[in-house]
Amino acid sequence: MTSEIIKSQDLLKVDPVFGQLSYDNHEQVVFCNDKDTGLKAIIGIHNTVMGPALGGTRMWNYGSEWEALNDVLRLSRAMTFKSAITGLNLGGGKAVILGDAKTQKSPELMRKFGEFVHSLNGKYITAEDVGMETEDMDIVREVTPYVTGISQNKGGAGNPSPITAYGVFMGMKAAAKFKFGSEILEDKKVFVQGIGSVGEALVEHLVNEGADVTITDINKERLDEVSSKYGVTVFEGNDICDAEMDIYAPCALGATINDDTIYRLKASVVAGAANNQLAEELKHGKLLQERGIVYAPDFLINAGGIINVYAELENYDRQEIMRKTENIYNTTLEILENAKVNELTTHTAALNIAQERIEVRRRENSK
Ligand code: NAD
Repeated sequence: MTSEIIKSQDLLKVDPVFGQLSYDNHEQVVFCNDKDTGLKAIIGIHNTVMGPALGGTRMWNYGSEWEALNDVLRLSRAMTFKSAITGLNLGGGKAVILGDAKTQKSPELMRKFGEFVHSLNGKYITAEDVGMETEDMDIVREVTPYVTGISQNKGGAGNPSPITAYGVFMGMKAAAKFKFGSEILEDKKVFVQGIGSVGEALVEHLVNEGADVTITDINKERLDEVSSKYGVTVFEGNDICDAEMDIYAPCALGATINDDTIYRLKASVVAGAANNQLAEELKHGKLLQERGIVYAPDFLINAGGIINVYAELENYDRQEIMRKTENIYNTTLEILENAKVNELTTHTAALNIAQERIEVRRRENSK
């Protein structure tokens, strides 16, 4: 028997979806394929107890289909808890489109994707995420009402990223208050990884407050643009763990707190926009706690974007959006205190509250 045969037999024994490490009782996973446009997408619906599953669409050039599947499973699950902790009547969902957003995205592909979203009859409502723009959501809107984050001139709430950045800024201030005794970030060394839509808007808030900001990104043009616009320092090294920082703000992709970085990271606070910052929630949440690093849970502080798009569904105005987003400061502080008192990691403290709310609603729904 050759090793190849053993391998393929072993693979047959592995459950390809329900057996995935990131699978956590997701209600529905939809694989979308369209030969003409080249669309390959996966929609993950994690939980709809609190309401329809709302979450953005990410277009990314994944290394493999497994990577894409695991990403959508992790991202959709995070949305469930994000909406629950924020008090929104929404469930958790997310979509990924496999491919390079710069070269493979087309209006036809986005329209076809919209048709797949529409086929779910509102159980999943989409929005933008990495690799997507407000204009892409406008195209999706041509074929389905189940999309948020469309342009303001088309009646939508527009780009959610500045609101997300404001919420992250609020969460960061709360974490600073908890760790350093003051929420004022003036002169604090803040390291922003990923200066896309959210990262740049966060840099602006930080600079306005007088923080000492260093940025990094894989996109050299963005680095030049943002550093000259705000007068911030560009990180010259290859390893973020070499950088001196008080606060680490991950604003690129997830899992940057992992076995490799956890013991070497020089930050005292972690507060950023990226989803799923902890490669392994329990393990890395605990290790951060043991190292005395205050972690502002990602799904709690990056909820500004979903607050913004939820306004489209509930018809509340800009003032209410800002009020709800500003409240991330209070919620974060409460959760950090709760974690301390109950000797929990901050991630677990936030997750427990979200899960409790979902459980209460589940019981109400089944009455
Ligand atoms: P974006 O695509 O506009 O920006 C991402 C940036 O990260 C890009 O500039 C990219 O070049 C950079 N990047 C990618 N890999 C990197 C790496 N290894 N090192 C350094 N930089 C890297 O995305 P965005 O909308 O700004 O979102 C950023 C993060 O925040 C994502 O994880 C997203 O899921 C999360 N988030 C965004 C929103 C929102 O409203 N846009 C809401 C909640 C969460």
